[in-house]
Amino acid sequence: MKKLKSYRFSDAELNKMLWLKELFQENGFTIDRFPEVYYDDFNKVYPEKEHNSFPNEGPVDPDMLGVYRFGLEKDCIGKPCRKSTEGIIILFKDRIEHYSSNTGTDIDSVRFVVLMHELGHWLSHWPIRENYNWRIGFHLSNTHTHEALAQLIAYWVCQHTLHFHTLLKLTPKAHLDPDMIYMLDGRLTLPDGTVVNPENPYGRYWEIKDKSIVEVLNKLHQLRECWMLKDGKMIEFLKSDSDNLEQWLISQGGISENDINLKLNGSDCIDNIPIKFLSLQGFESSKKGYRALRRFGVFGEWYDNNC
Ligand SMILES: [Zn+2]
Repeated sequence: MKKLKSYRFSDAELNKMLWLKELFQENGFTIDRFPEVYYDDFNKVYPEKEHNSFPNEGPVDPDMLGVYRFGLEKDCIGKPCRKSTEGIIILFKDRIEHYSSNTGTDIDSVRFVVLMHELGHWLSHWPIRENYNWRIGFHLSNTHTHEALAQLIAYWVCQHTLHFHTLLKLTPKAHLDPDMIYMLDGRLTLPDGTVVNPENPYGRYWEIKDKSIVEVLNKLHQLRECWMLKDGKMIEFLKSDSDNLEQWLISQGGISENDINLKLNGSDCIDNIPIKFLSLQGFESSKKGYRALRRFGVFGEWYDNNC
C-alpha cells in the first residue's frame, strides 16, 4: 500500500474523541493514545479493487466511506482463536466527497460520523479493561455485533448534535409493505416517517440505543471474554435486560453447538475459552469441559494448539 495522507482532526472531532476517551476510562478501559487515522482515496488503499465499486444505488453505510483495518498474527491461520493486531482508521477521501455532493450532506459532518463509527470499532476492539481486550476472535464473522457497537458509539457522540441527522442518513431504512405497517414497532419510526431496519447490521444499534452506556460497556467487556459466542447470540445478549452473560446463558438453557465458534475452515481452537464459560451445562472444570466439548466435534488434537 502506498503511503497514505494523515487525517487532520477538526476541533469538534478532537473534543468528542476526548469525551469518548473519558467515557471509556470511567468504565474501566485504558486509553493512552488513539489509533492512526488517514484520509486518502479508496483505490490507493485497495488498488486491487475496482475503483468504481462504490454503489450508485442502495443504502450507504459508514464502512463504505471508511474502514477500521486491523491485522491478524500469522500463527494459527484459519483458527477461531486467531489473535488480531491493533488497527488503523482510513477515511476514504474520494468516496466521502462523492457521497457529500450526491446527497447534499455537509462534508465535515460526513467525515465526523464516519470517524466516530470507525473509532467505535477501535474502542470495541483494542483498549484494555481489566487484563484483556478483543484481541482473540475479533476476525470472526460477528458483523451484526461489531456494527451495532460501532454505530452505537457513533450515536452516543452524535445524539443532540447536528451530526445526528448525518448518522441517520447512514442508518439503513426498511422498505415496508404498506399492508404490514400495522406490525410496526413505533420505536423504529423516525420523525420523517422512515423506518430503521434493525435486521441490517448498521441498523441494529437502534434496538439498543436506549440502554445505559454503563450497561453496554459492561456487556462489551463480557463479550470480549466469551468471544467464541456466535453473532446472533451476542446480539441477543446486547438486547437482553440481563447484565450478566453467564446468568443470561443459564436462563436461556445453556449453550449449544450452534451458539459457539469452535471451528473455522476446519480448524479448531479452544485454549482461550474462559473457565466460567466452561462451567455452563456441566462444564465444572476445564478438563471435564474439554471432554464435554467432544459432543460439539472438538477432539484431542485441538486441545493443545498454539494459539
Ligand atoms: Zn463498521
